Amino acid sequence: MKKYKAVQVEIQEVDTVVCNLCGRTISEHGGNHDCHVSVEKKWGYGTKWDGETHSFDLCETCYEELISRFKIDIARSGIFLL
Ligand SMILES: [Zn+2]
Repeated sequence: MKKYKAVQVEIQEVDTVVCNLCGRTISEHGGNHDCHVSVEKKWGYGTKWDGETHSFDLCETCYEELISRFKIDIARSGIFLL
């Protein structure tokens, strides 16, 4: 038999998202989190960052600037209105 006791658990949720490139606030207080790019990359052992995990967020403007420098255009899918 197991006897249980009540415990309090603190959880954390995203409150504010700031663009790593320009420093502007993208969303606050649980606002729309779909208006930015969020990247998390765990680098493998033997790479330049040997086992580190990097994460960053970009606003739409910085994302647009970044992808404009790509030599090969990004893949696109979804609904396009003509
Ligand atoms: Zn930005």
